[in-house]
Formats: sequence, structure tokens, C-alpha cells
Amino acid sequence: MMPSLLQQCTECQRYQYPQRHLCGHCLGDQLTDLAFCHPGILVAASDLHHSLEARFTQQLPWRIGTVKLDCGPTVLVHIKDLGIRSGMPVSVKNALQSDGSELLQASRQP
Ligand SMILES: [Zn+2]
Repeated sequence: MMPSLLQQCTECQRYQYPQRHLCGHCLGDQLTDLAFCHPGILVAASDLHHSLEARFTQQLPWRIGTVKLDCGPTVLVHIKDLGIRSGMPVSVKNALQSDGSELLQASRQP
């Protein structure tokens, strides 16, 4: 599975997600792939109680949420810390799962 990466345009310096071949702002084609490690605000969260994917079924209920990153893009994340509430500052990182896949995970800012 492809890792989830944030892109930064070398022309206008803006960030975008998901990945594209061109910058959504200036159409520049020089984009740098960056691992996620960015602060943002949790906009909303919800708990999944059903899933058709085995890797999620084993860990239900599974909390997901939407984070507005300080650098621009809004991303869908997984949340293991059930104490995180909407409006709280969080940090989004790539988290390696036991099956080798990567997910975007939000955690409290230190
Ligand atoms: Zn650009």
C-alpha cells in the first residue's frame, strides 16, 4: 500500500493532499513528498462500529476524524486517544500498522 504523503509545491510553497501530478494552486509540476508530522485542529470525529475490512473489524469501535492542518489541507485521520475532542489541537503523523500498512493518525500535541 502506498504511504500517505503530503506534497509541497516548490514554486508557491503550498501544501496539498491527496497527492496529485500538478499543484492545485499554480499548476507547478515540481512537488516534494513529505511524511506527515503536522499540527492542526480536530474539526469533527465519529466512531465506526462496523467495517468490511478485517484489519478494522478487529479493533472496533474505531474513531475517525477530520483535521484541518495549519499548513492548509484537511485530512481524514484515525484517532486512538478517545480523549481527543473536536476543537482540540492535534498532530497528524503517518502510523505504521501491524499489517505493514500506513494510516494517518492524530494525537494530542505535546
Ligand atoms: Zn504551486
